[in-house]
Amino acid sequence: MRIAVVGTGYVGLVTGTCLAQLGHDVTCVDSMPQRVDAVNQGTPPFYEPGLAELLTEAIQAGRLRAVTDVAGAVAASDITILAVGTPSRGGEIDLSYLSAAAEQIGKGLRDASGYPVVVVKSTVVPGTTDTVMRGILERVSGRRAGSFGLCMNPEFLREGSAVADFMDPDRIVIGQWDGPSGCGLAEVYSSFDCPKIFTTLRNAEMTKYASNALLAALVSFSNEFAALCEATPGADVDEVLSALHLDRRLSPMHRGDRVTPGILSYLRAGCGFGGSCLPKDVAALRDFARKQGVETRLLDAVSAVNAGRPAQLVALAQNAVGTLRGAAIAVLGLAFKAGTDDLRDSPALAVIRLLEEKGAVVRAYDPLITKLDGFHVCASAREALTGMDAAIVVTAWPEFAAFDWTALSAIMQRPILIDGRNALRGAVIPESTTCVSIGRHFEPQGVAVAI
Ligand code: NAD
Repeated sequence: MRIAVVGTGYVGLVTGTCLAQLGHDVTCVDSMPQRVDAVNQGTPPFYEPGLAELLTEAIQAGRLRAVTDVAGAVAASDITILAVGTPSRGGEIDLSYLSAAAEQIGKGLRDASGYPVVVVKSTVVPGTTDTVMRGILERVSGRRAGSFGLCMNPEFLREGSAVADFMDPDRIVIGQWDGPSGCGLAEVYSSFDCPKIFTTLRNAEMTKYASNALLAALVSFSNEFAALCEATPGADVDEVLSALHLDRRLSPMHRGDRVTPGILSYLRAGCGFGGSCLPKDVAALRDFARKQGVETRLLDAVSAVNAGRPAQLVALAQNAVGTLRGAAIAVLGLAFKAGTDDLRDSPALAVIRLLEEKGAVVRAYDPLITKLDGFHVCASAREALTGMDAAIVVTAWPEFAAFDWTALSAIMQRPILIDGRNALRGAVIPESTTCVSIGRHFEPQGVAVAI
């Protein structure tokens, strides 16, 4: 099929590249010419394992190209998939990118032949596709929904494993304006042998929020226990949650072997959820509920627990170091999670800001991120740690646990490690190094606690 993908970010480029891999003819569209140029050269504008190779293959096979002309791409396609950003503006969903793109798609629909189908893949609050999106498309194209198809198809891929997630989906949710709309989109996914759920546009929109709200709730649940364990001498959140995981309702036995479902990775303590989805989606859902007159006491608490995590981590550092005023602190990890270079809403940014507000001198290192506006990012962990009073692990990069901590502790002014993800458990750490884990009670020894 001829497919236009509007928005060439994490979701759009992965979607376009994978659809080309499945044999479709794909035109990726983005409003940023430098992004389009990079894609045409086979260079994804962000890091995603396996994407560059597939993109190059698709371009060489003539099955994918990138352009800036939305209307032209839509007019020449059977299916248009919209994957522009839907960020948060003061907690409310910002639909300005979606609306601007919809205007252009509407223009393309005027010249599109046959029965073109427009698919919203961006995460949008319930009602957006059949009101905002449909309204713009109908007004600009002069066509009524029904003469073109309209679907809402939420995306569940995870950054860091996006290609694998897209190519092997758990399920495909197809919200449809009418039957022919859903049939048109189902053809795109005909080679996938997974459950396909045909439903209303609003159910599809709501399903995405339900998924992300559950993940966010599990993270905040775990972090509430981390705080409780920190206040309870003898308690250790990792041991508590690991024992919880072994409940057969969470990790069932199958033919004598224990199955470890992926969801358990969200039942772990850390320094809070970040990234381009969970924080803004929980905020948008709460705002949507408020406008419907519905209270969201659970989601309010999920957000509040999460918002407090960076400060809790900085408090642990202060407790271990004594005072942060004038202290030199290394932050290890900037990305919101390991396996990506995405900095959006990363807890590391909040940790750095809080440390600086308390007068600390901060350096950072991340295996993938080399630049951060207004902040010096070190080229190596050795550079970040040299002469420092403490290091805080904020992203659970596996290589941090494999570091030679005997050598690295020796180059620090005071070897104090604050493990904000409990990512160093299992690492070989010299006895002379103080290691503070989250979710475990810590008594500072021989340091003056700041007042
Ligand atoms: P992104 O910011 O990485 O990419 C959006 C792209 O759209 C940018 O390249 C931007 O230049 C382009 N764009 C904006 N307006 C445009 C227009 N009018 N015409 C053409 N291009 C335009 O965003 P993302 O992370 O890919 O997320 C996209 C959507 O998918 C969001 O709604 C997000 O919530 C949802 N989502 C994201 C993920 C994820 O892991 N990133 C997962 C599932 C769902």
